[in-house]
Amino acid sequence: MPPPLNITGQKLGSLLVIRKASNAPRGGEWLCRCDCGREEIFPARRLPYTEGNLKRSDVAKACSVCTHTRVCKVCGKNFFSRTVRACCSDECRNKLTRKIQLKHYHEVKKVKFPDLHTLKRQKIKADPTKLEKLKAYEKARAKKRWVKIKTDEVLHSKENKKSREWYAANAERVNEERRRYFIAMTPEEYLAHRTKAKRYYEYYINKMKETDPEKYKEFIRKKKENCREYKRRMALSKLTALSNTLLKRSKK
Ligand SMILES: [Zn+2]
Ligand SMILES: [Zn+2]
Repeated sequence: MPPPLNITGQKLGSLLVIRKASNAPRGGEWLCRCDCGREEIFPARRLPYTEGNLKRSDVAKACSVCTHTRVCKVCGKNFFSRTVRACCSDECRNKLTRKIQLKHYHEVKKVKFPDLHTLKRQKIKADPTKLEKLKAYEKARAKKRWVKIKTDEVLHSKENKKSREWYAANAERVNEERRRYFIAMTPEEYLAHRTKAKRYYEYYINKMKETDPEKYKEFIRKKKENCREYKRRMALSKLTALSNTLLKRSKK
């Protein structure tokens, strides 16, 4: 019969053995204190005082809280989980999955099939129901993004700057396209566009009047100036037309 086990005072990993807690079979149970200060009772077979115990899958090198405390791969927060998990929450899990999928898409799928996206889009465009679904999805996504930008001031200014830069680079092309679009309109379409534009204009003006009265005053002043200039030009063009007709008559 082997002598009774005594491991009191031994340091096993992060655990310091304090005393025997009970006389259970196979070496008894031992009260240990972890480096974090928590105390816990472990059966002797789980403590790594022999080579054989060290190889066990359930070997205890620290208290259960310390061993099951994991670091989230996404946000870096500590969290408790008995099973092996990479993330602290479903939100982080989704982020990680998205990251892995994107990486796979750019490194494997896009290299293998360079025109994958175009082909997919062509396939969807051929099916009206799928196209409708895609359009609704894209609209909802754009709206969600816009709401996010509108509520975040820093993001809003950043996005504004970006769009201004883009417009400066593409102004000519955009204006040409816009002109062509207006010319191709039927009178009813043009009227609908006008009413919509007027509604937006009124909304914008009212908002400006409430939030920035100085800017509103300046805007009205400029508008009146433009109006005067327009009237002047119209009168001038009428005069020149009249003079031309008079000249023609005198030549006859
Ligand atoms: Zn601990
Ligand atoms: Zn997390």
